[in-house]
Amino acid sequence: SERTLVLVKPDGVERGLVGEVISRIERKGLKLVALDLRTVDRQVAEEHYAEHAEKPFFGSLVEFITTGKVVAAIVEGPRAISAFRQLAGGTDPVEKAAPGSLRGDYGLEVQYNLVHGSDSPESAEREIKLWFPEG
Ligand code: ATP
Repeated sequence: SERTLVLVKPDGVERGLVGEVISRIERKGLKLVALDLRTVDRQVAEEHYAEHAEKPFFGSLVEFITTGKVVAAIVEGPRAISAFRQLAGGTDPVEKAAPGSLRGDYGLEVQYNLVHGSDSPESAEREIKLWFPEG
């Protein structure tokens, strides 16, 4: 069994889609092992998206993620990292995410794509430590 860091981003929280995200995680058979509604420090946001620091959208992405509440969760299960990314769908909600996925069903714009899920075991470990430093 594996752990992944899931975020419902501010667009998902504002639109009232937290229940929908959690419901799909649970229906898939994955388990919540931590769940927290919070606002994000600039420092945590910049560290979370450090790999995109040089991208033109970095500033606006950090701004977006820090301006509203997010839900941070640790999700566990067999192949949890891939399983959640399947539930989320591709990064671009129109061009990449299939209908039936969270982004495919509810998203229109790349930046406002509702959720985040770790993309590898290394990212999951790093992100879980960043978002839940208390363990
Ligand atoms: P996440 O890391 O949030 O799960 P991802 O792994 O599907 O998303 P990445 O390529 O790592 O996608 O991009 C991280 C996030 O940055 C995306 O989820 C999206 O919110 C934002 N993003 C990516 N590309 C763009 C872009 N061209 N314009 C604006 N925002 C973008």
